Amino acid sequence: MINQQLIQRAAQDILRSKKTIAFTGAGISVESGIPDFRSVGGLWERFDPEEFAHIHAFYADPAKVWLMLKEMFTLVMTAKPNPAHIGLAELEQMGLLSTIITQNVDGLHQAAGSKNVIEFHGSHRTLSCLKCNTTHDGTSLTIDDLPARCPRCSSLLKPDVVFFGEPIPPKAQSYSFRESNSCSAVLVVGTSAVVYPAASIPIMAKQRGAMVIEINMEPTPLTGQISDYLIQGSAGKIIPAIVEEVKRQR
Ligand code: NAD
Ligand code: ZN
Repeated sequence: MINQQLIQRAAQDILRSKKTIAFTGAGISVESGIPDFRSVGGLWERFDPEEFAHIHAFYADPAKVWLMLKEMFTLVMTAKPNPAHIGLAELEQMGLLSTIITQNVDGLHQAAGSKNVIEFHGSHRTLSCLKCNTTHDGTSLTIDDLPARCPRCSSLLKPDVVFFGEPIPPKAQSYSFRESNSCSAVLVVGTSAVVYPAASIPIMAKQRGAMVIEINMEPTPLTGQISDYLIQGSAGKIIPAIVEEVKRQR
């Protein structure tokens, strides 16, 4: 059961806020069929992220890491945006959401129609060669082309998603920090908020006096500390309910 009072409060806070941003994590894409790190039966049960998504693992054995990447690519290529992605895109169109900062690499916010999306952890659209330092377009790759090899030196390419142990793309980081320091409300959706520096985004916003509204299936380290309130439940139900309520109150 969704807490209707909190839906009304969130709609009110969004309508009052001068500038609202969203900070999203893997949880927003679970209803599109892409498992988060906790999902039972998901690919992360077979591929320990600490082991497979660490840059040292890629250097040590790229072919092994590509077993995981190939599954992730397949999921991402076939996934469709769900009502949570679509609801955030609608808020942007209504002029009520400035920016989405996402930790996801699935491109589903853009697929839903959101324009101003910062990909904090990179994306699958380009791939780089760690041997000869070239970057290659990945948008025309099909599953049969994987694992992808460098057209110049034929080493295995690495998708430009940020692995554990890698730095955040500098532009994405500085733009995100600017947005979190200048917003008056932030919707924190489907993130366990334990991966840093991403998790510092809602904390920075809070320190500047922003309202922090959390949407998650369960409490996180932000709950009761950084977030003003948690609307507990699935993003695919809660975000459309907030959008409806915003339209009603407006
Ligand atoms: P996480 O897996 O650590 O946490 C997911 C959070 O979402 C949890 O707190 C969970 O309770 C919540 N959640 C699950 N289903 C939900 C739903 N339907 N509605 C609302 N909340 C829901 O994910 P994270 O915090 O994003 O950190 C993991 C890192 O791995 C990030 O960099 C992430 O982007 C990356 N990753 C990305 C994808 C993707 O691109 N879709 C998938 C898996 C992991
Ligand atoms: Zn190369």
